[in-house]
Amino acid sequence: MKKKNVFIGGAWPYANNSMHVGHLAALLPGDILARYFRKNGNKTLYVSGSDCHGTPITLRAEKLGVDPKEIATHYHEEFSKNFKDLWFSYDMYTNTMQQFHKDNVKKKLLNIDKNNLLYSKTELEDFCPCCNKYVSDREIVGICPICGNTADGDQCDKCLTALTPDILKDKKCKVCKSNTVLKENTHLYLKLSELTDKVKSYYEKYKDNWRQTAVNETAKYLKEGLRDRAITRQLNWGIDIPFDGFDDKKVYVWIEAVIGYLSAGAEAAKNQGFDFEEFIRSNDTVSYYAHGKDNIVFHTVILPALLCAIDETISKPEMIVSCEYINMNEEKMSKSKGNLVTVNSLIQNFDSDSIRYYFIFNNPERKDSSFSLDEFVALHNKHLVGGYGNFINRNLAFLSKKFEGKLPELNLDKEVKEEVAKAYQEVGDLIDKGELRSAATRLYDFIQFANKYYDQSTPWVLAKTNIEEFNKVTSNCIYMIVNMANLYEPILPKHALMVKKMLGVQENTNWAPVSYDSNVVFENVPIMFERLDATAIDLSKGSEDTLMLKNNK
Ligand SMILES: [Zn+2]
Ligand SMILES: [Zn+2]
Repeated sequence: MKKKNVFIGGAWPYANNSMHVGHLAALLPGDILARYFRKNGNKTLYVSGSDCHGTPITLRAEKLGVDPKEIATHYHEEFSKNFKDLWFSYDMYTNTMQQFHKDNVKKKLLNIDKNNLLYSKTELEDFCPCCNKYVSDREIVGICPICGNTADGDQCDKCLTALTPDILKDKKCKVCKSNTVLKENTHLYLKLSELTDKVKSYYEKYKDNWRQTAVNETAKYLKEGLRDRAITRQLNWGIDIPFDGFDDKKVYVWIEAVIGYLSAGAEAAKNQGFDFEEFIRSNDTVSYYAHGKDNIVFHTVILPALLCAIDETISKPEMIVSCEYINMNEEKMSKSKGNLVTVNSLIQNFDSDSIRYYFIFNNPERKDSSFSLDEFVALHNKHLVGGYGNFINRNLAFLSKKFEGKLPELNLDKEVKEEVAKAYQEVGDLIDKGELRSAATRLYDFIQFANKYYDQSTPWVLAKTNIEEFNKVTSNCIYMIVNMANLYEPILPKHALMVKKMLGVQENTNWAPVSYDSNVVFENVPIMFERLDATAIDLSKGSEDTLMLKNNK
């Protein structure tokens, strides 16, 4: 049975660098779901935001000699623009620097404390007497105990061993090069170990809805049982701890960013005038979470554990829409290889719908996929120009030229009517299950059906020989065009709007066939999609580090 309310959480990109194609592939499914559920008449909340705190940002800020806020704000603004350019329809895209989020995190920590799940623990930590501060693993250099070379506190780059500060020898502060000393420090811990059974039963209840990788990753993690984890971090950039004695610390990002779903959800619901607390606890609410492989455990273990710790009645992540990695021309993508394609670059080079189409049709749902410019161009030219665009343009251009853009009376073949109804049913079922790649494939079957119908009916001949039959065939084609636009709207929203505006299609909130109004007369028909030429496109254009560009100005 389908539920009435849908909560969709898109993963929060970290505001330390531009987003690349891998981020896009992981986040786009969230928007397809949101557009589909709204269209289906479900009360839908789709939220996300930029993750703005934590060490990587403070370290980069130190290096550049700027305030961490400047870096976080720069990328947050860039992400917001990227999402807008790509027609993401978040009900709220916010960031973790907002006051309502800070207030909410404090409130949730007090809840957790009330449920007796926090405790403080004092341990020896590395301290730099010269800088007069505790230094984290990434702020220490020393001698690798394995190979004897100079190594960072978290990893030796020479022998690639993962390290922890307690086994590193001759430890020095990276900044002033003084030897560190051990000094007692007190942190707050969340009793995750006590929540293991609850997370296990949550996993058993919902795992059949998830992709295999999500199931495997979660099982691996749960097998060992959850370990208590510090929720405080020795930093001066982040959210204050709402308990005495932690003035020199901030809330650790792993706990804070996840609470962002609740902060953003509450704020979005407030803007729309309904009660989030009731919405997120309703048995009639299903929640979907879209993210990449590296974020799975965060959503299938940490988030449900936290929700149990805060208040067990909050709806848990039921549908995990996780995806695998995207490689570049069959090679791993990385900054050092220089083969990273940023979202900025895609937007500079392609139409937004074309980008959305490629990353859904080729979404790495079950295994890694490979991005290549040639394949992007080939798919665009075949499916969007030759399939979808061609069906619309050849029908409408003919009507415009020969019949002044007047639409024929509605007169449908049984076969066409059934095919359209079947497309809604099957595509809807696939999207419900988070099977977006299959939904896109099913939609393309419909495009092929429509083009075959056109070719076999030869309306361009009928226009001269049998006008009655011509009108009937054209009526079926127009009916398929308006429904194509409607069916494709979650994936190709820009072109759906274009077609529906041109043909005066009324909006409805029902995932079901729509009709057209034969009194509508349409005017000039724009070319739906332009053919692309791979040799004329340079993807390194727009892939520069935008923060460095800005700072050099
Ligand atoms: Zn120092
Ligand atoms: Zn080493």
